[in-house]
Amino acid sequence: MTTLAMKFGGTSVGSPEAHGQAADIVLEQAQNWDRLAVVVSAMAGVTDALTRGARTAAAGDDQTYRAVAADLRVRHYRAVDELLDPNGERAPLLATVDEYLDEFAMFCHSVHVLGEVTPRAMDAITSLGERINARILAALVRQKDARSEAVDATEMIVTDDKYQNAAPLMARTRERVAARLSPLLDEGAIPIVTGFIGATAEGITTTLGRGGSDYSAAILGDCLDADEVWLWTDVDGVMSTDPRLVPEARVLPVLSYNEVSELAYFGAKVVHPRTIRPVVERGIPLWVKNTFNPTHPGTRINRETEPSPSTVKAVTAIEKLSMVNVEGRGMMGVPGIAARTFAAVASQGASVLMITQASSEQSISFLIPTATVAPVVGAVEEEMARELARKDVDRVWSIDDVVIVTAVGSGLRTTPGVGARIFGALAQVGINVIAVAQGSSECSISLAVAAEDAANAVRQIHNEVILEVG
Ligand code: ADP
Ligand code: ASP
Ligand code: MG
Repeated sequence: MTTLAMKFGGTSVGSPEAHGQAADIVLEQAQNWDRLAVVVSAMAGVTDALTRGARTAAAGDDQTYRAVAADLRVRHYRAVDELLDPNGERAPLLATVDEYLDEFAMFCHSVHVLGEVTPRAMDAITSLGERINARILAALVRQKDARSEAVDATEMIVTDDKYQNAAPLMARTRERVAARLSPLLDEGAIPIVTGFIGATAEGITTTLGRGGSDYSAAILGDCLDADEVWLWTDVDGVMSTDPRLVPEARVLPVLSYNEVSELAYFGAKVVHPRTIRPVVERGIPLWVKNTFNPTHPGTRINRETEPSPSTVKAVTAIEKLSMVNVEGRGMMGVPGIAARTFAAVASQGASVLMITQASSEQSISFLIPTATVAPVVGAVEEEMARELARKDVDRVWSIDDVVIVTAVGSGLRTTPGVGARIFGALAQVGINVIAVAQGSSECSISLAVAAEDAANAVRQIHNEVILEVG
């Protein structure tokens, strides 16, 4: 028995035309696989709009969320009107859209009254885009004479209660997926599952983090023992860099899980960073394909990779970072400085993207999101209060507007001279590298550069290191 789990991203269902295209793909793949489960995101821009409505309401503005609700009503009505037969499910679907958007307005009203939006409330609010869209796509698939049902992932994906960035509890999720989806799949129906969302064991809605529908598809693929997981998006596959930044970017036909993990972790938006984990454990091939060019094979992601003449296959950037430096001559030989520094960082819930330490132990530097820099510096100073007083540590300070540019390729581990080519390409245009680190999977090199140099650095590495040889 063959099973496919596939996901349509927001841009793949961003307009009535795109919805139609996605539904055709569903029908076609339903012919090719014994069991097909579909995950769908909110229409493009909807999650952003819902977030904006909630934030402005919390800030005391009781107009913007109403305007957002009106605008979302127009967008969803247009999709339903254009796609669904007036003698069929059009009227009930329009009522469904109204119901969810009324719920949105009600939530925002409460947020406005309270003057704050908790992460838990934000998850309830932002879950609505996926809830509406799963129902639209399921109705459209039914209209095309296939059996289909919209399913809220809140019924199946059980998560912890880390709102806005929840993690699935896989054993319970597996049981619930089997109970909820298997009967549907066995009778040949196509479940259309909401991406991005889940619920705690108590049933409170959570989300898996922005862009998390990719992760939803991988979780379902794992639970269903799928043969493959496909992510349908608006580009032909994973590319050598962000095509919006560098038009010369090329599609990469094959990548390893490790390579894609590094790319995703360091900012390539095309795949959510947590997507790889569920599929890697079962060795399920993951494909990235283009809804608008479905005959293009896309990118296949699996354990093995293919060597590339340029060694570096792709380059990506992650922005809005700061570099924190802990420095002092007296640090040399004081045991536990690094452990205590990073314990202080962790106490603030900040994620560290890159670490460098001078071999003389005179400084430790690390990169974190700028949004977390003030509490992190405070916590490290507090932890080092004694060393600062004794002048063993001279200062804890930070540089803002730093970007990490990461070059990825499995051959980086074994090919000499790649670093020199990368630095050469940057030196050609006078870009200063602030810090360097090699990724733990040894298939990436990350460079910290000033934000103003970032786009140029990506372009240089792409065009001088990847394209020149590749
Ligand atoms: P979806 O709504 O389908 O999830 P996203 O907007 O989240 O789509 O991700 C797709 C976008 O990711 C592309 O349109 C592209 O601009 C961007 N992107 C960034 N880096 C890459 C890359 N290396 N390869 C392909 N796309 C990339
Ligand atoms: N709709 C959600 C977001 O915009 C999830 C996703 O698109 O994957 O973040
Ligand atoms: Mg996405």
